[in-house]
Amino acid sequence: MSLRPAVFFDRDGVVNVSPGTGYVLRVADFQLMPGIVDLLGWCKAQGFYTILVTSQQGVGKGLMSHADLDAIHDHLQAELAVHGAAFDRIHSCTHLAGSCTCRKPSAQMILDAAAALPINVAASALVGDHDRDIQMARNAGVGFAIRLSSDNVVNDPGDVLAHSIPEILAALKSWHASVAK
Ligand SMILES: [Mg+2]
Ligand SMILES: [Zn+2]
Repeated sequence: MSLRPAVFFDRDGVVNVSPGTGYVLRVADFQLMPGIVDLLGWCKAQGFYTILVTSQQGVGKGLMSHADLDAIHDHLQAELAVHGAAFDRIHSCTHLAGSCTCRKPSAQMILDAAAALPINVAASALVGDHDRDIQMARNAGVGFAIRLSSDNVVNDPGDVLAHSIPEILAALKSWHASVAK
């Protein structure tokens, strides 16, 4: 099977409105970012796999259960599926910091996705809003990292620092055009 590139997405602050320093604990508090459906739809139309890679330490802290997290992700996928834009895979690190090998900036969630689907990681992109997201992309060998500016301190701006979802889409389009042969 031939390899395809993917776009990896951080969740909180990118796909859905950031819960700030806390966690989205229930479906009612999960709100999609404006423009994200169009962005995911464009990725799909170009033939990219779309993969969600998210740290949800609130599970490890006992603030929510795995079932609560699954319910949020089932809701997300159902909402996106209406537009043909559901994620191909969702990888979650639900562990306490320091207690696992998959927490960002570890490359493991990306490598796990690439073990499950024929993904060309070097030809892939990542969108995140935290230093750990960008470092995860670099650790995995992802070719292009877009940083969405947020309240998080920026030590690593990635390859492009975007200020809105439409700016992310524009950056992906121009990157895609530059690597397409
Ligand atoms: Mg985030
Ligand atoms: Zn983990």
